[in-house]
Amino acid sequence: MPSATKKRELDLSGFPTGAVTEYSTLVCLACIFDIFTKQLGLAPRTAYSEIKRHSPSAAELTAPQAMRPYFDSEEKNPHCPYCNSAKRWHARFDTYRIEGGKKTDVARRALLKSLSKAEEQFQVIEAKSDRRALLFEWLDTLGRNFDFEDDAWLVEAARAYLERVEPKTDWSQNFEGVCAVRRSSRLEEGWERDRDRLFLSSALYNDVLFVQYLVSRSHKHGGRTFEGRMTLSELVRRLRYSGHLDAQGITERDQFDVLEKLVERMTGDEGTVKLYYVVDRRDFLEKVKTVYARYATG
Ligand SMILES: [Zn+2]
Repeated sequence: MPSATKKRELDLSGFPTGAVTEYSTLVCLACIFDIFTKQLGLAPRTAYSEIKRHSPSAAELTAPQAMRPYFDSEEKNPHCPYCNSAKRWHARFDTYRIEGGKKTDVARRALLKSLSKAEEQFQVIEAKSDRRALLFEWLDTLGRNFDFEDDAWLVEAARAYLERVEPKTDWSQNFEGVCAVRRSSRLEEGWERDRDRLFLSSALYNDVLFVQYLVSRSHKHGGRTFEGRMTLSELVRRLRYSGHLDAQGITERDQFDVLEKLVERMTGDEGTVKLYYVVDRRDFLEKVKTVYARYATG
């Protein structure tokens, strides 16, 4: 039916790049009904009204590894990993995590105002986090999405970092056809495109190396960067000799203290950040209704 298949993504165009993270998870209604009717012994009608009110926590909706009755699947016709039920028993929660702050206030208010208030189709969960936790979460997500077998990830990492620090720039256009990212010997700050190469000022380039190191580091082999594989002490030495640490006012000698200072520089002074999770419950509400109809008549 057209109403069920029409595109229902939220319009997030008013937000700067990187301010909104999208999550999607499936929930198995066969599992949930089973728990309520068989294990808890509720009548289907009572189970239905209980389940309809179900509001998952932000952690359940955004966990990298979903737990029963939630699961993740990229398949077109997935089966529940717990009870093997087919797709018609599954509902989908889409969750949008918006980072609060001056850059997103106006867009956030407009978005929340535009959402339907009917039947609790949308739920907004507010939470607090800190910039450091968000940075490492961002690095984890990048790491999970990169294919480390293919060196193209190095350029993708550079782009992801630039999108983060300059969200208003059109990076898809600036990266189109880029074959290499280089350190500029001329630029004091910023970046410039020259044919198929993108030149970064020394500070930006060093930040990119640091991000690449953090995304790819492992205890055994260190991290990988545009400048090859490096351990933390090799990276710190390189940043020190290139003048990067002095330029950033980092005077620590110990490599782990230097790492902390570099992270601090990336996260800024503002420690805590407010997060708004917008949970789209529309698919869930519809599916609960049809699954209940099947229970009640079966
Ligand atoms: Zn199931």
